[in-house]
Amino acid sequence: MADKSFNAFAMAQAQFDKCADLLGLDDATRKLLRSPMREYSFNIPVRMDDGRFEVFRGFRVQHNDARGPGKGGIRFHPLETIDTVRALSMWMTWKCAVVDIPLGGSKGGVICDPHNLSSREQEGICRGWVRQLVRDIGPLRDIPAPDVMTNAQHMLWMLDEYETIRGAKYPGLITGKPVGMGGSLGRTEATGFGVIYTLREAMKEMDVEPGSTKTAVQGFGNVAQYAIRLYQQMGGTVVCVSCWDQNDQTSYTYLKKNGIDLDELLNITDHFGGINKGKAAGLGYEVLPGDAWIEQEVDILLPAALENQITAKTIVKISDRVKVIAEGANGPTTPEADAVIKERGIFMIPDFLANAGGVTCSYFEQVQSNMNHYWAKEKVLAKLDINMTSAFIAVSDLARKKKLYMRDAAYVIAINRVAQACKDRGWI
Ligand code: NAD
Repeated sequence: MADKSFNAFAMAQAQFDKCADLLGLDDATRKLLRSPMREYSFNIPVRMDDGRFEVFRGFRVQHNDARGPGKGGIRFHPLETIDTVRALSMWMTWKCAVVDIPLGGSKGGVICDPHNLSSREQEGICRGWVRQLVRDIGPLRDIPAPDVMTNAQHMLWMLDEYETIRGAKYPGLITGKPVGMGGSLGRTEATGFGVIYTLREAMKEMDVEPGSTKTAVQGFGNVAQYAIRLYQQMGGTVVCVSCWDQNDQTSYTYLKKNGIDLDELLNITDHFGGINKGKAAGLGYEVLPGDAWIEQEVDILLPAALENQITAKTIVKISDRVKVIAEGANGPTTPEADAVIKERGIFMIPDFLANAGGVTCSYFEQVQSNMNHYWAKEKVLAKLDINMTSAFIAVSDLARKKKLYMRDAAYVIAINRVAQACKDRGWI
C-alpha cells in the first residue's frame, strides 16, 4: 500500500496465471479463479467526537468459497484499496487450501488511520462495517478476523453489532476475539509461530542449525514479535527489525549486530508495532533508514510488515549470505524479484504457506466457538505445529519431486484443491 503505482491484485493474478499454465487449467476454471466471486464496497458514516460526520470507505471481497465459508481479515489502513483487498482475498483462498482447512478466501478493509481516531470513533467504524454486511457474512458464510491495525477489541465490537441485529449469539461469526469472550488461546502467537515452524522445517531440510543463523526482520507487529520470540528460543539471532514511525511518517531499521533484545524493544513499542526511536537509540540500537533491513549480512530474511517490499529495485541489495526468505507478510515479494530469488537458489517459504498459522488457528477458534468448548494453549499450538509442518512437507516434497520453485509448488497444491472443489460441486 505504500507505493501507489503497485497493484497487488495484478501481482496475485500474474502469480495465478503462471501456475494455471503449469497446471494446464481449462479456460473456464481460470476465469472462475482469477477474479473474486463477490465484492462489496460501501460507505460507513460515523459521527466523530467533535460532532461532525465523517464517511469512511469499506470493502469485503469474497474470492472463492468452494471449499467452505470464506475466511479473511479486515485491515484498517489509510492507503487501503479495493485491489489490495482483492489480492488478499485471493491469497486467502490459496492459503486455506494449502494448509487443507475447509474454508474459502475473503478479505476486508476500511480506508482509515486508527492512529488518528478515538476508541469511540473506531467502534463506530466497526459497527458500521457490520451493518453494511450483515446479510453477507456469518459463521456459515464468511468469517472475518483481525489483520493490519485491527485487533480483538475491534472484532468484539463487530460481533456485538452482528448479534444485536440478528438477535442471537453467533460466537463463530468472527475470529480473533478476546480470550474469555470466545477467543482461542494461542491465536496471538499463531501467525508468528507458524512462520517459524515452517522456517524450522526448511532449516532441517537444508541441514542448517538454527543457532548458527542470523535474521533480519521487517516489521515489529504481531507477526514479527512472535516469530522473533520462537526463533530466538531456537537459538537464532535477530540483528534488526524495522517499523513505521508515526511521528516522522517514515520507517526506520533498528540494528544491533550481536542480536536485538526482544523484551527490551517491546517495552518501548506502541500497540501498532512502532518503536520509540529516541529510546531505541538510548539503548544502543543503530537507527538506520527503513529499507536497511534488507541489506544486512544475514542467513534469513523475514519480511513481516507489508506487501511490495522485495522488488526489482531492492533485490540487488540482498546479501549473498541469504539462504532463506520466510514471508511473514502477505505479498512482500514482486514477481520480478521472485524470479531473481529463484535464480539465486534462495529457499523461499511463500507467504500463503509461511503465514498460514493465523488462519489455521482462526479455524481452530471457530471450531471451539461452535462447540462452545475451549482448548488449552498447549493443545492449540501442538495442533498448529502439526498442520503447518504437514503443509510444509507436502509443498517441499512436491517441489523436490517436480523440481518446482517452492512458491510454484504451493500454488500447484492450492489451486488444484480449489479447482477440484469447484468441479466436484458442478460449478465448472
Ligand atoms: P501489525 O499491524 O501488528 O504490524 C505491522 C508492522 O509493520 C508494524 O511494526 C509497523 O510499524 C510495520 N510497518 C508498517 N509499515 C512499514 C514500513 N513501510 N516499513 C517497515 N515497517 C512497517 O501487523 P501484523 O498483524 O504483524 O501483519 C504484518 C503482515 O503479516 C501483513 O502483511 C499481514 O497481512 C500479514 N499477516 C498477518 C497475520 C496475523 O495474524 N496478524 C496473518 C497472516 C498474514
